[in-house]
Order: sequence, then C-alpha cells, then structure tokens
Amino acid sequence: MKAIYFNQHGGPEVLKFGDFPTPTPGPQDVLVKVKACALNHLDIWVRMGIPGLSVHLPHILGADVAGVIESVGADVFNWKSGQKVLVAPGISCGTCAHCQTDNDHLCDKYDILGQQSNGGYAEYVKVPAANLLPFPDPLTFDEAASLPLVFLTAWHMLVTNGNVQKGQTVLIHAGGSGVGIAAIQIAKLKGAHVITTVGSPEKGKRAKALGADDMIHYRETNFQQEVMRITNNRGVDLAVDHIGQETFEKSLLSIAKGGKLLTCGATSGRQIQFDLRTLFGRNITIHGSRMGQKKGLQDVMEHVKSGRLKPILDSVYPLKEAPQAHTRMEERKNFGKIILTH
Ligand SMILES: [Zn+2]
Repeated sequence: MKAIYFNQHGGPEVLKFGDFPTPTPGPQDVLVKVKACALNHLDIWVRMGIPGLSVHLPHILGADVAGVIESVGADVFNWKSGQKVLVAPGISCGTCAHCQTDNDHLCDKYDILGQQSNGGYAEYVKVPAANLLPFPDPLTFDEAASLPLVFLTAWHMLVTNGNVQKGQTVLIHAGGSGVGIAAIQIAKLKGAHVITTVGSPEKGKRAKALGADDMIHYRETNFQQEVMRITNNRGVDLAVDHIGQETFEKSLLSIAKGGKLLTCGATSGRQIQFDLRTLFGRNITIHGSRMGQKKGLQDVMEHVKSGRLKPILDSVYPLKEAPQAHTRMEERKNFGKIILTH
C-alpha cells in the first residue's frame, strides 16, 4: 500500500511517501480502507519524538480515520466489509478495571491510533473492531474524520471534568485550533458564555460565526487583562488551555475564585512556572486531561447527528502532501481541521 511514514524523528521533511506493507488484521481487528485522516497536534509531537515514548520505526501517524471496511478478522461478527465507518482513536484492553467502568482512557495499555500503533496516513489501517463507530451520515469522509480526537478531548475537559454549566463563562485558547473549534461548540451547546483567543481578525470572525461571544487577539493584547475587562474583574469559571508555557500562568490569573483550569496539551512548551498562591489562594483546581471516555465520544456523535456539533474543516491535502499539511499546522495558519485524503 501507499503510506506516509518516517524512519527518523524530525521536522516535516522526515515524512516520506512510498510503499509500506499492508497490515494484516488479527482475529478481533478490521482492516479499514482509509478515505480521510485528520491531523492532530499529537502527530507533530510523535514525529518530533516525545521523550520517554518509544516508537517503532518506520512509523505511520494518524489518529482520526474515516473509511470503508476492507476485511474483518475471524472473531468479528457485527461488522462486514463494505461498511462505512469512523474510528475511535483511543485503543484500550477492554478487560481491566478501568475499561470495565467506562474509564477506558485510564487503561494501563492505553494507546492512541498512530501514536505507538501505525495510524491512518496510509491506504489501509488495522484497528480493533471495538473502536469502530457507525458512520455519521450524511457527513463526508473528510468531515467525519475531523471529529473524533478533538471532540473527545474537548468533551472530556469541559463536560466530564469541568462540568460546564449554563451561564458560566469559559476562556478557550486558540479558537481556530482543533480543540478550540470543538471546545467553543461544546461550551455553547451547554449554554456557557465563551471568550476565545485568536491569532488574526480573520480567525476572530470565524470564531464568532462558530458561536464565540468575545474574541481576544492574543498577538495584540494581553489576554488576561482583556478577560478581566470582559468579566468585570471576576474572571472565568473555566479556562481551556492547551498552549502551555506561553499562556499557563496568565490563564490561572484569568480564573475566578473556585474555578478550574482544564489542560490537555502544551503546544508552546511544557515547562511552566507560577506563583502557588494563585492556586490555593483562590481555590482553583487544575485538571489534566488526555483523551477521554469512549462514552463521551458516543455522546458527541449524538449531538453531531442532531446538527448541534459540526465539523469545521480548514483544508484538505492529498496524502502525499502530508509535509505541507504539517507545516500549515505548525505555523498555526489553520482554522479548523486539516485533512489528508486519497
Ligand atoms: Zn484496559
């Protein structure tokens, strides 16, 4: 099969397009013919190399896959070849105590498709049948592939961990990022007031169209001062921060007493420093999130079906142009999801 793979960690230039052995599904797996695969920031981390995470090389990235079942393993009875499917990106053992209590994201064997297993930057991908979701018709393959990882992550942060409520105010960083477009929609769905940071006036317009109430241009203003002005010096109930180093301390200072900082990433760097009094002095909780319960993704898909949560696409690249797609994401040029397609 054709695939984008890398033999060494590094910049977008390490991504090579070429022939790769087609995976063979095990008894409980299915082989999916990939129609579309979305980029996630995770792909950039894995490509560059995450300290402490060993990846078998050559490696194929790609967590978010929409496609058609090519073949099914011997023990798979509820799916058949030819069916359109969407793949849930979190892979877990299915039998441990966490998996049996709907906390599959806490499974000891947890993996994300394309992180340690080979992912969807390819013609075919092998996934456990347990990870298949019914295809969300009438979406296109590109639209469907844009949904799982970021909506799962944003849902887990805001709904499961943040318990976002009607009337609350939520600060969401990088409104045009994958997590940003998902978080804005979920916070609005729950009736919250959304303040989002954006890198350009154009992105501000798009964030507003998505439902955001207040836009802060982070390149031009101090977002923390702006949040305080907008909230009459009260601060926000919840802050969604996946930027990390550049924003973390100011995010903490933007939170009202008793509020929560929800973090799922560190795109600008992972070493942070802050005055501890900021935290205990105002009864603030920091809640870390990696992925989320598969159950949360099923809830998301119900809202997608009813049209209340929508895919937001930035651009679609042919698979072999994955390096250009990575560059666009790294330069923060995208508003919404970048898709690789065949
Ligand atoms: Zn498990």
